[in-house]
Amino acid sequence: MAKIFCVANQKGGVGKTTTSVNLAAGLAKLDQRVLLVDLDPQGNATMGAGINKAGLKSSIYEVLLGEADVNTARMRSEAGRFDVLPSNRELAGAEVEMVQLEQRERRLKDALAAVDSEYDFVLIDCPPALSMLTLNGLCAAHGVIIPMQCEYYALEGLSDLVNTIKKVHANLNTDLKIIGLLRVMFDPRMTLSQQVSAQLEEHFGDKVFKTIIPRNVRLAEAPSYGIPGVVFDPASKGAQAYIAFGAEMVKRIKTM
Ligand code: ADP
Ligand code: MG
Repeated sequence: MAKIFCVANQKGGVGKTTTSVNLAAGLAKLDQRVLLVDLDPQGNATMGAGINKAGLKSSIYEVLLGEADVNTARMRSEAGRFDVLPSNRELAGAEVEMVQLEQRERRLKDALAAVDSEYDFVLIDCPPALSMLTLNGLCAAHGVIIPMQCEYYALEGLSDLVNTIKKVHANLNTDLKIIGLLRVMFDPRMTLSQQVSAQLEEHFGDKVFKTIIPRNVRLAEAPSYGIPGVVFDPASKGAQAYIAFGAEMVKRIKTM
């Protein structure tokens, strides 16, 4: 049975999609079977995995509304060697359309149950909001990975996310845990980065992943080629860090 993880943070531009795509590719390099679920109407994870979001026959939108199953909608990232449940802007409408459905926060969980046994990891790239879409991700998952930049405002808003996770745990999904905070876009030359990083370790202890993802231009360039950074330039510092993070996650699920 797959372990299912949300990559979540209600802020935009904090590295959720970069983490989702590169962790997926890093895990695939470690011979793990991975499904990447793009739960953001922006479709950046879909494009970053090399799948054209404009040409989809079916997508996660149809899956959430019960008009297609995961088996029909999933596609293969040939570059990344993982499967993708793709998304595009149609998904923005799902939020409203799902209002009429029963158990609307469990639609993704129920849909994933059909393919669960085919994967070691399911990674869900969440949109930048604590919305019904994100709630579907949190209800489906065993754990949450929270990417964070080590900057002054990093902790702002974290308590909203943590409270949402607590509520989901109490009311909807007792499996759900925060697996860890992932330090991303890290610049070791900045004193502030070092200080915030040390504070995170102090406050959150072993909830902070050991792996640190550096700021690395190759990771930012890769999406425009539709190739995960881990595959685009495997020797780059960013790629190496995401492969190390994959190894940390493989180790981590053995204790779950
Ligand atoms: P989110 O999904 O949280 O909105 P993204 O993963 O799309 O965030 O990242 C926001 C921007 O930062 C993108 O342009 C991305 O290429 C860039 N980026 C993310 N991580 C890194 C990194 N480690 N080094 C350099 N650029 C990065
Ligand atoms: Mg994103």
